[in-house]
Amino acid sequence: SKVKDMSAEVVDSNPYSRLMALQRMGIVQNYERIREFSVAIVGIGGVGSVAAEMLTRCGLGRLLLYDYDKVELANMNRLFFRPEQVGMTKTDAAVQTLSDINPDVVLESYTLNITTVQGFETFMSSLKNKTFCPSKEGSGVDLVLSCVDNYEARMVVNQACNELNQTWMESGVSEDAVSGHIQLLIPGETACFACAPPLVVASGVDERTLKREGVCAASLPTTMGVVAGLLVQNTLKFLLKFGHVSPYLGYSSLKDFFPTMAMKPNPHCSNAACLERQKDYILAKPARDAVA
Ligand code: ATP
Ligand code: ZN
Repeated sequence: SKVKDMSAEVVDSNPYSRLMALQRMGIVQNYERIREFSVAIVGIGGVGSVAAEMLTRCGLGRLLLYDYDKVELANMNRLFFRPEQVGMTKTDAAVQTLSDINPDVVLESYTLNITTVQGFETFMSSLKNKTFCPSKEGSGVDLVLSCVDNYEARMVVNQACNELNQTWMESGVSEDAVSGHIQLLIPGETACFACAPPLVVASGVDERTLKREGVCAASLPTTMGVVAGLLVQNTLKFLLKFGHVSPYLGYSSLKDFFPTMAMKPNPHCSNAACLERQKDYILAKPARDAVA
């Protein structure tokens, strides 16, 4: 019987057939559509790098990676980066590893700070570039994942996505490393990052607080791995249209508590582009009703 098991292994050695089984089992309608999708990941740190690896192994079409930082030995308490990559930019090191894992994914490395004028311009134009899938409506990417660790960068992703009417997902891990969250942001339809002040989740831990200067944040590869997994699971559900896409999902590891909620946009949001998107969303209501 050992021999039989071995031959079964050989038949199923194509990793893609395991993914296509999602289709045979009726979970996903057309898994191969994954090859048409582009996802942008901002922040290739503890969460972003793991999310990038998961999407690469799932056979995503194209990944755009943004980070200004270099790999340091201090990053080895997280997943993904290896000691021999110390000194490389995180985006280049990520492209090196990811292209080895799956050479079919189109990988774009952007070593830049999205909060600078120049960085923001490059960020915006890269999101608009439609050469990978010219027939696509809207911008050139299907989803933006925010995996940064500070408030300012999140506000910049929020600004870009509101201007481009681009759906995105935000993620975060708390400073004490024991809780985290993911959030879906659809301009005009759900609260944007500026609509609500950094919110204190039911767990009582505010994960979105500014990184405090001079305070050494704790870090666990476990929490970051869980948050990356929740983020990419929500991404797959969003792109391949299966299951329920969570508008907000928290993770509090001390009590294994997973709070969920949904937030409507704030009609008095301070972000002008958000108010524009809210207007568009209300104007498009008759069309949505007709479809439903
Ligand atoms: P530490 O918590 O020790 O500072 P880290 O900076 O790697 O580690 P992570 O939470 O693991 O933090 O990852 C967040 C990532 O987001 C980092 O790689 C960081 O360089 C990146 N990042 C933060 N702000 C920006 C920005 N404005 N533009 C581009 N990348 C950013
Ligand atoms: Zn808003």
